[in-house]
Amino acid sequence: MKRIKALSILLMASMFAGNMLLCSCSKPAETSDTIAEETTTTAATTTTAATTTEETTEEITEPTNFIPDISFTTNYEEITLDGDPDSVFVSTDYCYLESEKYFLLIEPGIKLPGDYAVNLDAIIDEIEKELGLELCTPDYEYSHGIIDNSVYYDGFNPWDNWSIGTKLPIFLIADETDEGLISCGDGESVVLVEYELFSDEVWDSCPSYYENSDWRRLDYIDYTTAAHELTHAVAGRNGKASKIVSEGIAEYMGRTVIAALASDYPSIGITYDRHYLYDNGVPEPVNADNAESIFLDDYEEIDHANRGAEYVYGRYFWQFLFENYGSDAYFRYNEEIKSYHIEGWYGYYEAGTNQKFTDGVKVVFGDDVFEKFGDWCVENDALQSVDGVYPMPDEY
Ligand SMILES: [Zn+2]
Repeated sequence: MKRIKALSILLMASMFAGNMLLCSCSKPAETSDTIAEETTTTAATTTTAATTTEETTEEITEPTNFIPDISFTTNYEEITLDGDPDSVFVSTDYCYLESEKYFLLIEPGIKLPGDYAVNLDAIIDEIEKELGLELCTPDYEYSHGIIDNSVYYDGFNPWDNWSIGTKLPIFLIADETDEGLISCGDGESVVLVEYELFSDEVWDSCPSYYENSDWRRLDYIDYTTAAHELTHAVAGRNGKASKIVSEGIAEYMGRTVIAALASDYPSIGITYDRHYLYDNGVPEPVNADNAESIFLDDYEEIDHANRGAEYVYGRYFWQFLFENYGSDAYFRYNEEIKSYHIEGWYGYYEAGTNQKFTDGVKVVFGDDVFEKFGDWCVENDALQSVDGVYPMPDEY
């Protein structure tokens, strides 16, 4: 049963990859410019009686990175969750939950356990700790409003004109008609489309769901997905990355964060115990001779049957780097790449950009890093299968 689930996810991802990114850290070009027009909020200047008369003639100069304050008016309900894993909240209208570092923007038909926000809080904190980076960094150029994700709401934007400052918008989507929507994340937002978060009403109204419940729906929430997409958000706000780097660190963190939190957070512990592990196949076994060229190609020329290889290559690559070059490996790599001032974003880099990512790896970890990685793969029997590998949970 679990194997079928894994394969179905891969199949869906492969289908989706035909015209867009799968589980990406990118934003589609058509939405990237739909930033709400800047609203010039009243500057909170403190004045004294002596200076007041001159105040209105002064030009207000904006800082380079304008960080809007939180401001919105809404008819939608703000909800809170009680922290109890056994309690359940079901949304019947748009609603939202505000946490320290994010807003959950919830559409109708979402079912949440009481500890859902607690678990997301912990996952974000752990990602930040492991990467040495902040989600709500002041260095990121924030949009002045929530990214327009009305594509998920038939053109309607329930969060129009909302400004949430540096907090991350996390959209919880119920794919009511099984359009094949999938989760994604970047610095602008995270979208989570998870069958286990669909209300029973949504599930029971769609034949392709309820007729296949035995393999399409887990009986627990797999927090690995949230950890993966939230890693894209943290990393995306702090730098640029190629496919292998981006999906690799998200996959790596998806596992390590869950493992780190499993003993303290019961529902994440269930994910740790039951999450089904799977390694995608790779087009050719990785070794000292081809490790660099594969990284450079970033699997861009690989046909659909092998899409997903960048995920597994990248995950092992980061495991190798953390184990051999220290716990600050990603931070150091990110700092190096930032100094290159790479334009564009994931999925839309100009030709030649991958060379910069490859050069950055060598600058930080040494000219022989790819040869060492290839040897490490052979020694550890990693990335040697073209068919994929299904390790058991105790090999986590
Ligand atoms: Zn991803």
